[in-house]
Amino acid sequence: MLKGKTAVVTGSTSGIGLGIARELARLGADIVLNGFGNTSEIEAIHKGIERDHGVRVIYNGADMSKAEAVRGLITATVETFGRLDILVNNAGIQFTAPVEEFPAAKWHAILDINLSAAFHGIAAAVPQMKRQRWGRIVNIASAHGLVASTHKAAYVAAKHGLVGLTKVVGLETAGSGVTCNAVCPGWVRTPLVEKQIDDIAAQKNISQKEALKSLLAEKQPSLDFVSPAQLGGTVAFLCSAAADQITGTAISVDGGWTAQ
Ligand code: NAD
Repeated sequence: MLKGKTAVVTGSTSGIGLGIARELARLGADIVLNGFGNTSEIEAIHKGIERDHGVRVIYNGADMSKAEAVRGLITATVETFGRLDILVNNAGIQFTAPVEEFPAAKWHAILDINLSAAFHGIAAAVPQMKRQRWGRIVNIASAHGLVASTHKAAYVAAKHGLVGLTKVVGLETAGSGVTCNAVCPGWVRTPLVEKQIDDIAAQKNISQKEALKSLLAEKQPSLDFVSPAQLGGTVAFLCSAAADQITGTAISVDGGWTAQ
């Protein structure tokens, strides 16, 4: 389905981004991996995707907190593959604290990585996608792009901003063959959430297992985690012909979180 297409997935050395990169590769897309991590682990992911799916894979370690690096990631992709078809803005970080204690540096870091990186990537990618008359931009927002929780001022602001950006870009690219949508996951068990499970266990003095149950019970009616592979499937659907007329919208994959 995606043979001959090139996909950039930011933050794809771990968690959701890696699940999405694997699914797009399975469908035949060449992949640009991005994100931080241990060099040998990244090398293993890189080689594993090439071996399993027979696609071309490159790794670009661009720091998504730096505007020029984000734009450079897009330029380097077009230089290497001669095209860019799919951009998944997924890299993200989390930090929790009451608003009056929220460190300004954390606020800026979250806004830069979770929101501004998507702006810079989209701005650099749209001209190329328009020239090709086909493109898919998928922004990995969150249930927190639609509703709020306490102690997540920067994250909720950034993810709501990302949903807003998605709508604007959906309008600006309408009819050009390019679509732009957001995916809003509920809880996914990745390193980003493991830290929050640890925090609940420590705060409530309960076991990891109880903390995990409490995390799900508070927000996610299905009482089960969303998986990175399921989110890969959602992104693949948005890249399919069935989704040609889906643009400027946010798709929830959240076990019922935002239906409440
Ligand atoms: P994760 O921590 O497993 O992965 C984050 C990825 O982003 C990693 O590859 C990391 O190296 C990369 N990254 C972080 N800072 C970066 C930077 N400055 N430059 C380049 N790469 C950087 O987290 P995850 O849970 O897979 O999160 C992925 C996305 O999904 C995030 O945007 C997150 O907000 C969103 N999300 C996660 C959940 C969840 O429950 N895990 C729910 C909703 C939305």
